[in-house]
Amino acid sequence: MEQKQFQAESKRMLDLMIHSIYTHKEIFLRELISNASDAIDKRYYRSLQDGSEGMNREDFYIELRPDKDTRTLTIRDNGIGMTAEELEQNLGVIAHSGSLAFKSEHTLDENTDIIGQFGVGFYSAFMAAKRVIVRTKAQDSDTAYEWISDGTEGYTIDTCEKEEVGTEIVLELIEDTEDEKYSEYLEEYRIRSLVKKYSDYIRFPIRMEITREKLKEGSESEYESYVEMTTLNSMTPMWKRNKSELKDEDYNQFYRDKFFDYSEPLMHIHSRSEGTVTYNSLLYIPAKAPYDYYSKEYEKGLQLFASGVMIMEKCSELLPDHFSFVKGLVDSEDLSLNISREMLQHDRQLKLIAKSLEKSIKNELAKLLKTDREKYTEFWKSFGIQLKFGVYNGYGVNKELLQDLLMFHSSGCDDAEGYTTLAEYVTRMREDQKYIYYAAGETVTRCAGLPAAELVRDKGYEVLYLTENVDEFALQMISKYQDKEFKNVSAGDLGLETEEDKTALEEKNEASKELFAEMAKALEGKVKTVRLSSRLKNHAVCLSSDGDLSLEMEKVLNTMPTGQKVQAERVLELNPEHPVFGVLQRLLTENTDKLKQYTDLLYQQALLIEGMPIEDPAALSKMICDLMV
Ligand code: ADP
Repeated sequence: MEQKQFQAESKRMLDLMIHSIYTHKEIFLRELISNASDAIDKRYYRSLQDGSEGMNREDFYIELRPDKDTRTLTIRDNGIGMTAEELEQNLGVIAHSGSLAFKSEHTLDENTDIIGQFGVGFYSAFMAAKRVIVRTKAQDSDTAYEWISDGTEGYTIDTCEKEEVGTEIVLELIEDTEDEKYSEYLEEYRIRSLVKKYSDYIRFPIRMEITREKLKEGSESEYESYVEMTTLNSMTPMWKRNKSELKDEDYNQFYRDKFFDYSEPLMHIHSRSEGTVTYNSLLYIPAKAPYDYYSKEYEKGLQLFASGVMIMEKCSELLPDHFSFVKGLVDSEDLSLNISREMLQHDRQLKLIAKSLEKSIKNELAKLLKTDREKYTEFWKSFGIQLKFGVYNGYGVNKELLQDLLMFHSSGCDDAEGYTTLAEYVTRMREDQKYIYYAAGETVTRCAGLPAAELVRDKGYEVLYLTENVDEFALQMISKYQDKEFKNVSAGDLGLETEEDKTALEEKNEASKELFAEMAKALEGKVKTVRLSSRLKNHAVCLSSDGDLSLEMEKVLNTMPTGQKVQAERVLELNPEHPVFGVLQRLLTENTDKLKQYTDLLYQQALLIEGMPIEDPAALSKMICDLMV
């Protein structure tokens, strides 16, 4: 018989697990039971779909058999079993197991602790066993196979005798040492407590023969022992249990086991609904975005159960994109068991469930925002962008749902890291305030430093600082919040002046018509107009935009890979109170060449302030130096 080698990465993993600290080793039992349960799920589901096998739910079991004589612990199930190819594929290459997902995220060598927290799958058997024998018979196969490995080098596969469909895993336990007593795993109390601790919610019976004593018949003092098959787990799935019986710890443990996340979830939402559609759901919001969350590879979805039977691993129809970060499961009695993926998409019940879940996720987030700001901020940092895209996408169909979950940096916050909601902003608005003001830029410092933001703040109004690309697009989609329009401080009329102010400025503009025409000519193709500004206080110059497209939006759109370039209608605005304006007026009559040069210089300064790219930084530097000497 041929001895096959494990793949290199599997070896590394095995080595690591075998040397993991003792207290973590007990999880091997949880892993093997969970595999057995999955295998039963698969077989049960298939039998329900084709109705061929005539298996009932009660016919399925997982059995544990400790044997002190042979020092083995056997885990047996009558699940779907494995063919020879599947054996090879599933147990020969570690890359097949769920452990891969976390392997790419964490460096195993530095963080051996992970093993205690995680689903590491079948290979964890080698944490307690020096040799593992897997005997398995697949549902439609006449032949059974035996896989044997000592976990270090490789494995063999051979045919064997096995009547029943399913899998049997025999662990030959490692010898006891001074501090590691593997023989404990043969003790009834130890096995019982491990099952209670880790596998209580498994929905199929985990059975074990338990030896009990009873009075001998006819005797009053003599006992005899007898063996009784006992079910060790309560079999109530976590999500069907009463909330009051469950602790955060239980929820977190379940989350880590089931959804392969190393860290604890931020929160869970456990609910039962009995209305037009009946279901139990257990949802989690992760604390951190998975490494692939903002990539195309990420797949949203919830596990879907029909009356306790898992029918889909990732049902994407249950989650809208804006809540795609949610993990969890739904179990409904109203769904048909043999529904196909295509039918599911049009299923009315499923749509109702999805709607109701969406509402409940929203409500829970809103509640968190109200009651635990710190936690919500943590959530926001991981998934806020997703919500803002949610507002923007689909022409704003979800804006009503999402707008009160949004947060932005703001001049109204105590520090640059702080956030405000739109509702909070509005409560701070002054009586005479017409607009919700915002400034857009790469960072809070950049936004706060915009001359126009400074002016608006000086007038006593709060300014939102939009630092994310999607921000301004999202606000434009919302367009009005509590009847207040949003206003970019760098665009259009800020509504800060009286009619007299406006007339006065217009007159001044009119008086310098010639100057501005000359300057605009010098900046042909770059700006649409040059004019005096009402948004400047200390600064000499700024750039603003007319029309719907703001400077920040121009910047964002031009970084998109579509290749299409857009340009906002740029306006160069000058401060009539600044001495530079006087210089410009003088140059118009005295030295038009210099006027051109200064105009260019002012324009480029304005670009820099806005955080816009300048065409030729070297030329700008030279121009400044020329002026200096
Ligand atoms: P995971 O369960 O995370 O996929 P494992 O390493 O635990 O990874 O198992 C690898 C694969 O081996 C499983 O996905 C499953 O296909 C198969 N397998 C493991 N145990 C059993 C079992 N008791 N019955 C049938 N198939 C099994």
